[in-house]
Amino acid sequence: MSDIKQLVAGFRQFHEDYFRGEQGLYAALSQGQNPSTLVIACSDSRVDPAIVMNAKPGDLFVVRNVANLVPPYEKGGGYHGVSAALEFGVCSLNVENIIVMGHKHCGGIKVLTEGMPEGIDGEFIKPWVSIAKPAMERVKQLANKQDKTAFLCDCEREAIKVSLENLATFPFIQTRLAQGNLTLHGWYFDIEDGAMSVFDEQSKQFKQVD
Ligand SMILES: [Zn+2]
Repeated sequence: MSDIKQLVAGFRQFHEDYFRGEQGLYAALSQGQNPSTLVIACSDSRVDPAIVMNAKPGDLFVVRNVANLVPPYEKGGGYHGVSAALEFGVCSLNVENIIVMGHKHCGGIKVLTEGMPEGIDGEFIKPWVSIAKPAMERVKQLANKQDKTAFLCDCEREAIKVSLENLATFPFIQTRLAQGNLTLHGWYFDIEDGAMSVFDEQSKQFKQVD
């Protein structure tokens, strides 16, 4: 669906079927939102977290960016879009969970490992995806003889771990982790077979959800 007319028709369908059918939900949501989970997902058109998690409006506070990355905490200037969303979600909405959801065939991670595709400069993409450079370096050290697809998948999963580590550099997140009021999660979605794997803190491995 890429034609704008189709999207307008889609909105009408949504209004007719979903909005009217969920008027109680929307009446409650018009008074305010109270999501318990913040999701950081990729901008990729194939990995909408609300669809993947079967969530309703009001369930998820979502940040989407190239390669679902969280930068480390930084003081001072700049337009810190992810940090602003984290601050609002954690300090104002008091979310109890933050999920970093990565995915297979991530274009952002491909740029990190292989460079920009032809015809695009990458003025903004290259420095952005460099947040995940430590992930790539770790994977290179672990297994440098594996095939290209496996290498990319390992980088995608390791980048989720880097983002989880970066989340833990934000003072307001540190405080809530210490209080036990907040839990961090790493999820990895395989768009080929629809499987979801969840990072297990104890084994340091991703385990597939049944
Ligand atoms: Zn992606």
